[in-house]
Amino acid sequence: MNRGLLIVVSGASGTGKGTVCKKILADLPAVAYSISATTRAPRPGEVDGKEYYFISRDEFKAWIDDGKFLEFAEVYGNYYGTPLNKIEERLKRGEDILLEIDVQGALNVKRKMPEGIYIFLLPPSLEELRRRIEGRGTETQESLKRRLANAVAEIQIGREYDYAVVNDSVDNAAAQIEAILAAERCKVARNLDKFNLEEAF
Ligand code: 5GP
Repeated sequence: MNRGLLIVVSGASGTGKGTVCKKILADLPAVAYSISATTRAPRPGEVDGKEYYFISRDEFKAWIDDGKFLEFAEVYGNYYGTPLNKIEERLKRGEDILLEIDVQGALNVKRKMPEGIYIFLLPPSLEELRRRIEGRGTETQESLKRRLANAVAEIQIGREYDYAVVNDSVDNAAAQIEAILAAERCKVARNLDKFNLEEAF
């Protein structure tokens, strides 16, 4: 049994990573989504235990104390964390697991699990990124500036990743990530070891 792939997708805010990840999960039913815990309030339509585990700050602290997180980070004033949730055992069993987390979290996971596949989503251009952040219509001038500055800083951290994928359209970006996963599955290190060559003759 081949070890599963740990797939970590991040991107500056406004790069549309949520939509791209949804498409990948729809295309590849064998890939399991790692449901994060967060202290932020659910948005309309979000369901506890589906998009996130929505928990209080006190519960979040308790989860930290109980060692339940692979990583956690504060993002825009709320806490987000990846539950350990038997990730190691599941990978060993051959399950592929997708994490959609911010750059701080991704770098922390990379330190612990360098064998993961770290994919950074980029906007087609900075102008487009600005348009997308503005397009949400929820931003004040101040928070727009903060989000843009943050996005630029995040893109710089993108250098630490293995792959950079431009999200010019959801279909293209998802197809590129699926191609990356197909290539990763063909890596020599993942395949030759399963032949016990000494015992061939
Ligand atoms: P949102 O509140 O829009 O769903 O997510 C805000 C940010 O938190 C996004 O950049 C998302 O990738 C990130 N995020 C979601 N879950 C986690 C997590 O478990 N850990 C970390 N570090 N970031 C997360």
